[in-house]
Amino acid sequence: MENKRDYYEVLGVQKNATADELKKAYRKLAIKYHPDRNQGDKDAEEKFKEAAEAYDVLSDPDKRARYDQFGHNMGPQGFSGGGGFHAGGMSMEDIFSHFGDIFGGGFGDLGGFASAGGRQSRRRQRKGSDLRIKVKMTLEEIATGVSKTLKIPTLVPDSHCNGTGAKDGTAFTTCPTCHGNGSVMTSQQTMFGTMQSATTCPQCNGEGKIITEACPHCHGEGVERKEEVVSFNIPAGVTDGMTLTMKGKGNAAVHGGINGDLLIVIEEVKHPELIRDGNDVIYNLMLDIPTAALGGSVEVPTLTGRARLKIAAGTQPGKVLRLRGKGLPSTEGYGTGDELVNVMVYIPEQMTDDERKAIESLQNQPNMKPAESVKNRIFSKLRHIFD
Ligand SMILES: [Zn+2]
Ligand SMILES: [Zn+2]
Repeated sequence: MENKRDYYEVLGVQKNATADELKKAYRKLAIKYHPDRNQGDKDAEEKFKEAAEAYDVLSDPDKRARYDQFGHNMGPQGFSGGGGFHAGGMSMEDIFSHFGDIFGGGFGDLGGFASAGGRQSRRRQRKGSDLRIKVKMTLEEIATGVSKTLKIPTLVPDSHCNGTGAKDGTAFTTCPTCHGNGSVMTSQQTMFGTMQSATTCPQCNGEGKIITEACPHCHGEGVERKEEVVSFNIPAGVTDGMTLTMKGKGNAAVHGGINGDLLIVIEEVKHPELIRDGNDVIYNLMLDIPTAALGGSVEVPTLTGRARLKIAAGTQPGKVLRLRGKGLPSTEGYGTGDELVNVMVYIPEQMTDDERKAIESLQNQPNMKPAESVKNRIFSKLRHIFD
């Protein structure tokens, strides 16, 4: 048996609490932990279920008496096959369908919870399907953000029937099964007694009305295929795979519901020379030996065109030169990254006789050999290579 909290403790009442006190306590907890107020909060959902279970047992005099005597184990003739009461046995649907019975008409004054109460009309609004498109972005485009205008094949409401699917938009009648409610009540016998729940009307699929004559243009679907021109802005700093959602710009729903969404998936196009690293970009620069030794200036690519970069005499391979602000802006507006230029030095793979002689003449010069102190100084500056 798992560690279950005492039902009286769950509801925060005394052992001798009256039916009225139990009801008040449960009502308070049901409001506090109601899923409508605690969206996505698993802990609140557990507490909500725990309270519902506790109230189910304590509000029934027979079950309460057995609980008082045997606790959660419920004695030899346990309520659920010897396992006692399990919160898992009550679905959210069960709990909500119960609300009407527990709170009666009084539950209406809780406001905002009407959608969860089983007694309400639940005419369903259909939602159209989402449209997904991929948009290729170069690093230059990502650096500035772009606005795009695209033609997208989509489903739109049929103009002949106003998206209803009924001939001329008027050939309907109220559904005879649910009388326009969109839902029907069903009763179910459970260990907690009779439970009523609302289910979607099978005849009208929850729409509350049925088409008497289908629109001849869309054959009753209420939608037609069309190319829609959609314009949107893509902010600077987006990353590969990021999805932007345009609410209501997706496919229209069958029989005039809510439109689906347009999902714009960013696909980053590889830059021929620059490598993205978060908001920074990296450029691998290969210097020739004379420029690294003597200094000079080189041209490097950036996201805003070529830039000249000064090379100090004695620049070591592994040095990183930083071009501030030449990276990508963050989508959250936390400034802009840098371009990091990684310096490498090219050692020729083949040489002419003259070149070889020139290098050989340097080979025994003491200044060409790094002293210990020089090695230490340079390696400590290049620490990032070994990090
Ligand atoms: Zn119906
Ligand atoms: Zn139509």
